[in-house]
Amino acid sequence: MPTPGLDGYTPPWQLPEHADLAELARGFFTKEVLPHAERLERQGHPDRAHYRRAGELDLLGLSVPETYGGGGGDFTHEAVLIHEQTHSGEGSLGLAVHSGIVTGYLVRYGTEEQKRRWLPGLCSGESVGAIAMTEPGGGSDLQAIRTRAVRDGDDYLVTGSKTFITNGGLADLIILAVKTDTSRGAAGISLLVAEVGREGTGFRRGRLLDKIGLHANDTAELFFDDFRIPAANLLGDEGGGFFQMMAQLPQERLVIGVGAVAAMQRAVELTTTYAKERSAFGKPLIGHQHTRMVLADCATRTRVSRVFLDDCIARHVRGELDVPAAAMAKLWLTEGQCEVVDRCLQIFGGYGYTTEYPIARMYADARVQKIYGGTNEIMKELIARAL
Ligand SMILES: Cc1cc2nc3c(=O)[nH]c(=O)nc-3n(C[C@H](O)[C@H](O)[C@H](O)COP(=O)(O)OP(=O)(O)OC[C@H]3O[C@@H](n4cnc5c(N)ncnc54)[C@H](O)[C@@H]3O)c2cc1C
Repeated sequence: MPTPGLDGYTPPWQLPEHADLAELARGFFTKEVLPHAERLERQGHPDRAHYRRAGELDLLGLSVPETYGGGGGDFTHEAVLIHEQTHSGEGSLGLAVHSGIVTGYLVRYGTEEQKRRWLPGLCSGESVGAIAMTEPGGGSDLQAIRTRAVRDGDDYLVTGSKTFITNGGLADLIILAVKTDTSRGAAGISLLVAEVGREGTGFRRGRLLDKIGLHANDTAELFFDDFRIPAANLLGDEGGGFFQMMAQLPQERLVIGVGAVAAMQRAVELTTTYAKERSAFGKPLIGHQHTRMVLADCATRTRVSRVFLDDCIARHVRGELDVPAAAMAKLWLTEGQCEVVDRCLQIFGGYGYTTEYPIARMYADARVQKIYGGTNEIMKELIARAL
């Protein structure tokens, strides 16, 4: 069903192959993963088998070159996948991070040997990827991270802890932001790829965090105590980590924006249907002018958001999306998601507050969008700096 207010709208970058991909992804999420949603929520993490199945269907690493087992596409393909996942209501698999972010770092900064070693496993779903920047002491001020990596022969010895790490419970491969020079700020940060398939000497996963939403996705704490990482796992140059993250964060923010718009579309669809079916005072809710006005506002906000997002996606693919524009996208789209979902929930009345109705879960899931990927306050800082 097309989203009310978006009938006939096609993203300017969309080709027939994107529609085929969307159909394949939709089928996977709705027929193969969503039937397990309740069990996945109870267990608090996705099934590894679903990562492998996504790999079998060629849904992972869509923007990774084919030589490394990927789909050979670009960010538009990743955007279609993330849109379909959120729009379907599937929230267990951390694909936005695994495929939308981690593979991007490896493609951009990995050596030939590193790409051949890590990308095929991520694309087949044999290994799960994560990126760990945030620490218990703070997430917004990335320069102040304290996890340190000290060179010891051919290895680094890593000590410190990370928290709120998406896919942290299952991850086999973690891009880890560390201080290789504690006497320096940004220029002392490097990225190391930690291969942590098995917990071993010096590495431990903490508990899965008990969140208000996203119950089926594993968000974890990670602890390192003289954990040995080969120096060959350094991604890019020593001391270049902060600048690599700054270069990649616009894509991460766009990934969040794609999820935000997909959620808005879903909220408007679900609520329009409900407002036609539910009656109050002798007529369907949609027969009341106030309901129509709210839905009209939400549909308008969704359409404007979608057009803005698609412009950002097209710019990003052309290599023209600047930091302030990516921050605007993250800020505007996630604020819009929270507002639209909240207003839609109200139309469901008491049922909107029960988890049996998807709109209630969408409300809880939406809130973090204003927090991760750089908080929306930090987004305003980035935008304001460019004024
Ligand atoms: C579900 C979930 C998944 C996550 N996934 C990941 C992940 O995969 N990898 C990862 O590295 N991190 C991840 N994060 C962490 C997330 O990116 C951080 O929570 C976020 O960056 C904020 O850091 P913080 O929580 O330490 O808040 P703080 O940095 O302590 O900020 C607290 C408050 O102060 C405000 N603030 C801070 N500095 C300023 C300033 N200069 N001006 C104005 N206000 C300011 C913030 O906006 C915020 O409101 C995840 C978080 C959650 C909840």
